[in-house]
Amino acid sequence: GEPVLEVRDLCVDYGVGRGGVRAVTDATLTLRRGEVLGLAGESGSGKSTLAYAVTRLLRAPGVITGGEVRFHGPDGVLDLLEADAATLRKVRWDQISVVFQSAMHALNPVARIDAQLTDALRAHRSQLGAAERRERAVELLRLVGIGEERLRSYPHELSGGMRQRVMIAMALALEPRVVIMDEPTTALDVVTQREILDELMQLKDRLGFAIVFITHDLSLLIELADTIAIMYAGRIVELADAQRLFHSPRHPYTLGLLNSFPALHGERVRMEGIPGAPPALTALPAGCAFHPRCPFALERCAHDVPRLTEPRLTEPGLAEPGLAEPAEPAEPDGAPA
Ligand code: ATP
Ligand code: MG
Repeated sequence: GEPVLEVRDLCVDYGVGRGGVRAVTDATLTLRRGEVLGLAGESGSGKSTLAYAVTRLLRAPGVITGGEVRFHGPDGVLDLLEADAATLRKVRWDQISVVFQSAMHALNPVARIDAQLTDALRAHRSQLGAAERRERAVELLRLVGIGEERLRSYPHELSGGMRQRVMIAMALALEPRVVIMDEPTTALDVVTQREILDELMQLKDRLGFAIVFITHDLSLLIELADTIAIMYAGRIVELADAQRLFHSPRHPYTLGLLNSFPALHGERVRMEGIPGAPPALTALPAGCAFHPRCPFALERCAHDVPRLTEPRLTEPGLAEPGLAEPAEPAEPDGAPA
């Protein structure tokens, strides 16, 4: 598909000068129409910071210090980092909507849920009459599995899963091209999470929006996403087709996230998680930030940052972007089958 969102060399700092730390370094990715792009990585790796920066919702002390974010909208290409506040207001929600971490608490507690949706439609789709807005709100809530009998409820009368469905309906209300979801279902039980995600994927197929899906849960992304970006200490360390990433991860950190980190000595064993902890942003190791935790680290990993190679086209349309040297592990036979 055609690109809808292009992020190039994006850098984000918290604080400026000597007190500043870099939370996102040179992030580059492309989201295509209708695509699901998953973003995974341990807590603190910069996933939310990247999402906030791309949508220009980053708050102080966060500062975008470099890069480009190009949105391909109905009126042409827009550089979101250069756009003024009025333009951003129009694009956000209308074209790019966001469901944030703990979005369940973002509903207005004193408004009934049908009113929350019709108010949003009144503000952004003034050409619709009251009856049409109402019809649209009911339709949207039905799409996310909320029946007519719930329309007059207040948020506190709904379960967490129901509230999250309302948030998703709100995000889809204006038929955006891009929906960014930051851990949209992590607060929910597994069954509810699965139900909501299944519905979301069906909606995506019907309405054709693209999704950036942020989660700690790499196994979920392998199921849902077309493409996966793995973040570590603020960098995208691997970016690949989801199946390729699962079957032959190229960065040792990806291997670790797949819970198949081999033992340093002796037999390979499946492990839960990666030994050690990510570095503090104030003390990022030189070279590949992962090298102190990496059993495959070579001498050069301590001073060279591995670069993502250009996609290798093995057949038309089948891109295999991966990791360049160093730190390309041997055949990862510890990877789950
Ligand atoms: P999680 O999985 O826990 O949501 P994340 O990958 O979304 O983590 P971010 O919230 O983007 O990570 O944080 C990235 C880094 O930026 C972390 O080291 C965090 O401590 C730092 N950070 C985030 N917000 C601020 C802030 N307001 N001021 C200073 N540092 C911040
Ligand atoms: Mg986050």
